Amino acid sequence: ILLLGGAAGLLVAIGAGFYLANRALIPIRLSLEKQQQFVSDASHELRTPLSVIQAHAELLLRHPDHTIEEDSKHVSTVLQEARRMNKLVGGLLTLARSDSNQLELERKPVRLDLIVRESVNKMEMLAEVKELILNAEIDDCIPLEADEERLHQLLAILLDNAIKYTSEGGVVRVVCRKLAHTVQLEVEDTGIGIAPEDLPRVFDRFYRGDKVRGREGGTGLGLAIARWIVERHGGKIRLESKPSVGTLVSVTLPL
Ligand code: ADP
Repeated sequence: ILLLGGAAGLLVAIGAGFYLANRALIPIRLSLEKQQQFVSDASHELRTPLSVIQAHAELLLRHPDHTIEEDSKHVSTVLQEARRMNKLVGGLLTLARSDSNQLELERKPVRLDLIVRESVNKMEMLAEVKELILNAEIDDCIPLEADEERLHQLLAILLDNAIKYTSEGGVVRVVCRKLAHTVQLEVEDTGIGIAPEDLPRVFDRFYRGDKVRGREGGTGLGLAIARWIVERHGGKIRLESKPSVGTLVSVTLPL
């Protein structure tokens, strides 16, 4: 019940996000159709975990005599779906705020090499659990004028995808090179890859490739947020992929 209350709270928060976004959408002329599509997609995506939470909470209430061990399956499903909703709402708020230009970058002098190394270190455990090899080649001393938190978020999205979509024994490689006027950041994996028909749409909000639809743990918002972060820093992001061979995401940022 508490979780349902929390979920309702999250929906209110997202509603507020949309309200704020809606007010400020007009100046940047996002088409009404696009805006309506976003709201309808978001509601649809939120409804699925909410219905699952509701169903399992009702099942829990039906057997008040059960011990927590007996009901652990329902409790973990509720938790898992609540986590998914949390992730979704976080992503939705970021995109709603970015649409309404309320999300400013907080640029300051940072060291990209340190940010990349720290992000890779954070993911090492996850890679180890999945028995993946995580390699990093990072040039020293890459100074940038950038939003540190957003760069951490960008790396988390790209590394999380590379690990999530690569099976045991695979390799994830991170390369960060300082060139004459730009920085080249690459995250490459030997995972399931992306079908050619899905490729043009992977940066769209809520789009999930055919192979991964229905799989847990994804929201379809990661790459949309990644593109926003890169473009707001004046950079470019592109993705190459071959099914069953792997995926390469390259980011170029101005120095
Ligand atoms: P999701 O939450 O589904 O991972 P993203 O926006 O991060 O959402 O990615 C969109 C889609 O792009 C994914 O659903 C998946 O189909 C595909 N994708 C992204 N990164 C990879 C990758 N490294 N390997 C295979 N497919 C990927």
